[in-house]
Amino acid sequence: MLHKLKRMFAFLCAAALVLSASACGQDKASGGQGVAGDADSPYKVSDEPITLSFFYAADNKPFDDNYPVFKEAARLTNVTLHGTVPQSNSEGGQAFATMMASGNVDDIVTTSKSSFDKYATSGAFVALDPLIDEYAPDIKKFLDDNPNLRKMITEGDGHIYFLPRFEQGDAAQGWYIRQDWLDKLGLEQPKTVDEFYEVLKAFRDRDPNGNGEQDEIPYFHRQKNLNALYNLMGICTGFSYNEKTGHVEHGSYTEAYKNAVKTVAQWYKEGLIDREIFTRGNNAREELLGNNTGGITHDWFTSTDGYNQKLEGSVPGINFAAFPPPADVNGVQWEETSRAQSTLKGWGIASSNEHPIETIKYFNFWYTDAGYRLANYGVEGTHYDLVDGKPVFKQEFLNTTKSMTEAWWSDGIALYIGYVQDFDAEKQWMSPITVDAFDMYVSNKYIREAFPLLSFTEDEQKVITAKWSAIETYMKEQEQKWIFGTDDVDATFDQYMAQCKQLGMDEVLAVYDAAYERYLNS
Ligand code: CA
Repeated sequence: MLHKLKRMFAFLCAAALVLSASACGQDKASGGQGVAGDADSPYKVSDEPITLSFFYAADNKPFDDNYPVFKEAARLTNVTLHGTVPQSNSEGGQAFATMMASGNVDDIVTTSKSSFDKYATSGAFVALDPLIDEYAPDIKKFLDDNPNLRKMITEGDGHIYFLPRFEQGDAAQGWYIRQDWLDKLGLEQPKTVDEFYEVLKAFRDRDPNGNGEQDEIPYFHRQKNLNALYNLMGICTGFSYNEKTGHVEHGSYTEAYKNAVKTVAQWYKEGLIDREIFTRGNNAREELLGNNTGGITHDWFTSTDGYNQKLEGSVPGINFAAFPPPADVNGVQWEETSRAQSTLKGWGIASSNEHPIETIKYFNFWYTDAGYRLANYGVEGTHYDLVDGKPVFKQEFLNTTKSMTEAWWSDGIALYIGYVQDFDAEKQWMSPITVDAFDMYVSNKYIREAFPLLSFTEDEQKVITAKWSAIETYMKEQEQKWIFGTDDVDATFDQYMAQCKQLGMDEVLAVYDAAYERYLNS
């Protein structure tokens, strides 16, 4: 009951975030009160221009010093960021590891929460909370108004070491199907697992693309996993809290996983799942929609939007449409992915940074009204105009052949820096069909509350570092053996569970239990 109340509280806090963010968008420039500026340049954080070195290679896209968004920020604040990762570098993770190993850490570093978990408490980064209290009134106000988010970024030692891009909008991913194929075959969108299976078979057998060949690939996925199918089998993938047992569990270490993986392996054997499910990767939609063979997938609404338009010339009549989650084997309609669950990435200040006060003031700028608009919409007059006080992207910026993310990142909009996303910015890039799909998942409450990203103490982190990656590797290897039919699920499942235990799975779960309990009680 206590858990339930607290979870409800978490939900209310998420709602509060939406409210405070939209209020922020409508405020008159708050001027970053308390920040060292003057009437003419309210956002200025230093009289002398300062240049700070910046490690940024999120999603393998290194920071470009020429981003218009950051030039504008420099004009307003007097702080210029200089990206240190060469544009040619496409291995952000490796670049980060190299920098940390060298001990020569850039002034500002963008990385993931898990990396901050790993390095922060060892002294590589500055605790931000005392600096925020003293020098960053807009960040402080935001965190005071959103205690749940503060909790999410607070480390096991009680300090904050990074400020993430706080994601907005509830829905992340959903189900997509070739509606034109269903229409052609006289079938309905599948509402249950049985109907889902029947549709997969119909796509395999009844030549919906009409080329006379049995070349259709009923289910495909670009993320090289079968998570969405396990969801249909009633399994939460990854770590989640089980209300019945009162403990954190991992989907691949449950008894229910046995039947789930058994069914999915059977579907694979029957040719209902892409043979290259674990290897095809990121271009799966371009390839399998482009050659008119892919039938069903599960993916981001925003990035799956647009294939109908892109392909209307080459795949006549294509209608790749979002549909509600089929009820799982327990009869429940639910969606596992949500924005809150996304990997948290953001920025922190290196201990070697000689301008921590100016840097936190610069971080604060992105929480002012001007910074909020700049981070979300770019530069006024270049990327957007204010219409009735509301930022509206310019038509010429929207009319690009690039994807939304590509267009934004080319100019420095919506990077992984510490700021609050305005979901309306993303909505302006969606087609009406995607907005409808999005609203369908939200209004029907399909989206399950995300398991929080927990913070671990140093000792807990040691247990995870020592055990988890070996367990995860083993789990994935065994899963593939089952899916490919190399191993029989019935014959080897008990042995698999025992091996996970042997590798330390129960210790890892105990750490998660403790961290989750702390999260609830903090
Ligand atoms: Ca065919």
